[in-house]
Amino acid sequence: MPEHLPQDAGENSLWAATAIPNPVSEQLQEKLQADVLVVGGGYTGLSTALHLAEHGVAVVLLEARSIGFGGSGRNAGLVNAGVWKNPEYVVSKIGAAAGEKFNLALRDSPRLVFDLVERFGMQCDADRSGTINIAHGASAMRYLEDRCRQLQELGAEVELIDGEHSHRLSASPVYRHGGILDRSAGTIHPLNYVRSLAKAALVCGARIYQESAIESLSRQDNRWLAVTANGQVAAQQVVLATNAYADKNSQGVRESIVPVFIFQCATAPLEPALAAGITPERHGLWDTQTLMTSSRIDRSGRLVMSSAGRLRGPQRGIRAGWMTRTRNRLFPQARAARWEYLWSGRVGVTSSKILRVQLLAPGVFAPAGYNGRGVGPGTVIGKHLADTIVSGNRDDFPFPIETLYREKWSALRAGYYDYGTLALQFVDRR
Ligand SMILES: Cc1cc2nc3c(=O)[nH]c(=O)nc-3n(C[C@H](O)[C@H](O)[C@H](O)COP(=O)(O)OP(=O)(O)OC[C@H]3O[C@@H](n4cnc5c(N)ncnc54)[C@H](O)[C@@H]3O)c2cc1C
Repeated sequence: MPEHLPQDAGENSLWAATAIPNPVSEQLQEKLQADVLVVGGGYTGLSTALHLAEHGVAVVLLEARSIGFGGSGRNAGLVNAGVWKNPEYVVSKIGAAAGEKFNLALRDSPRLVFDLVERFGMQCDADRSGTINIAHGASAMRYLEDRCRQLQELGAEVELIDGEHSHRLSASPVYRHGGILDRSAGTIHPLNYVRSLAKAALVCGARIYQESAIESLSRQDNRWLAVTANGQVAAQQVVLATNAYADKNSQGVRESIVPVFIFQCATAPLEPALAAGITPERHGLWDTQTLMTSSRIDRSGRLVMSSAGRLRGPQRGIRAGWMTRTRNRLFPQARAARWEYLWSGRVGVTSSKILRVQLLAPGVFAPAGYNGRGVGPGTVIGKHLADTIVSGNRDDFPFPIETLYREKWSALRAGYYDYGTLALQFVDRR
C-alpha cells in the first residue's frame, strides 16, 4: 500500500523518508456501526478520534489514502500558537465574545500538542525551544511590535526581541531587525506526529482504516451512512475533517476554502558545526516577507525551508531556483548545500483568513480553512469537537459554528495565488 504519495510528479518528502512506521494498515472491508464517524486522517480527524475514544465513544475514522496524506504529513512542523491574523483582527471579524474565546483556545494550542506528545510518548522529534516570527526588514518591526502587544494582552508567552538578539538566534545576516519569540511554541516531525496521533487513538479504542475514501454520505434510518468501495459505516454524528484535501465526496468542505500550495526544500545533512550554528537554539523561524519563508533545522542537521507555491511541471525549477537564492541570502553559510528533498502540499485559505467550523447538516461538523496553520489548531479543534459531541453542549465550543459557507471564485483565486507567487519568484533575482 503506498504510504505517502507525492502531490506532483518528481516530488520526494523528507518526512516520508524519515517516518516511523504507519500504525494503520487496514482497509475497511465490512459494515460497521459507530457513535461518531470521522472522515480524514490528519491532525483534525485524529485528534477528534483520539479524544472521543478517550471518552469511551465508539469512533471509526476513514482515510482516503494513508495517514497524514494531506497537509498533516507534509507541513513545515512549526507548532505555533494562534492564527496568522492578530487577536484584534479576529475580534473585529467575529465579535468580542466569540473572538476572545477563539483567541484563548488557540493561544494554548502548542501546550495541547506537546502535552499529547508527552502523555503518549510520541516519537516525533518534538522540540519545545520556541519559534520566532522574525522581521526581514526594519519596516516590519512596527507590525511585529503591535502584534506582540496584542498577544501579550491575551496572556501569550511572547516577547519582543531586538535586532542583535534575532541575528544571534537565527545566524542570518538578513534577520537583524528583531522579532517575536514565542517560548510556548516549537517544532515537530509532522508526519511522525500524525502517525503518533493515530497510534494513540488506536490504543484508546478508535477503529481506523486507510485507503477507504467515503464515496457517499446519506441519511438512512436516522443515522448517517458513509459508503466506501468495500464497506460502510453507520453513525449518529460525523466529523468531515478533509480540509484542503476534500474531494467531491465532501463537497461542502471543498467549497468552503480556496486550495493554495506551499512547497518545501530540505538540504542534505549539513556539516555538524554548520548545522549547530544556524538557529543555534533550535528555534523555528517564519518571517515577514510577502512570500513568507520558514526555516528550521531538523534532527539530522538538514536545513528545511518552505514558501508559497506548487511544484507542478516547469514551476518546479523556478520555485526551487528562487528558494536556492533565498537560502543563499538568508543563510549564506549553507550556500554549498544541495537540496535533497523537494515536496509540496495544499492548505485551505479563507477570505477572512480565519478558520471555519461548519455544521453542514444536523450532526455533520466540518472544520476547515486553517490558512496554513493547522498543527496546533487542528489538534485543538479535534479536542473541542470531541468534548462538544460528548457533552452535547455547543456553548462551550470556542469557535463559531456556522452553516454552509462558500468561498466565491475558488478555482480562479487558487490560480491567481499559484501564478502570482510564481511570477514573484521568477522576477525576484536577489
Ligand atoms: C507545505 C505545508 C507547510 C505547512 N506548514 C505548517 C506549519 O509549519 N505549521 C502549521 O501549524 N501548519 C502548517 N501547515 C498547515 C497544516 O499542515 C494543515 O493546516 C493541517 O495539516 C490540516 O490538518 P487537517 O487534519 O485538517 O487536514 P489534512 O491533514 O489535510 O487531512 C485531510 C485528510 O482527508 C482525507 N480525505 C479527503 N477526502 C476524503 C474522503 N472522501 N474520504 C476519506 N478521507 C478523505 C485526505 O486524504 C487527507 O489525509 C502547512 C501545510 C503545508 C501543505
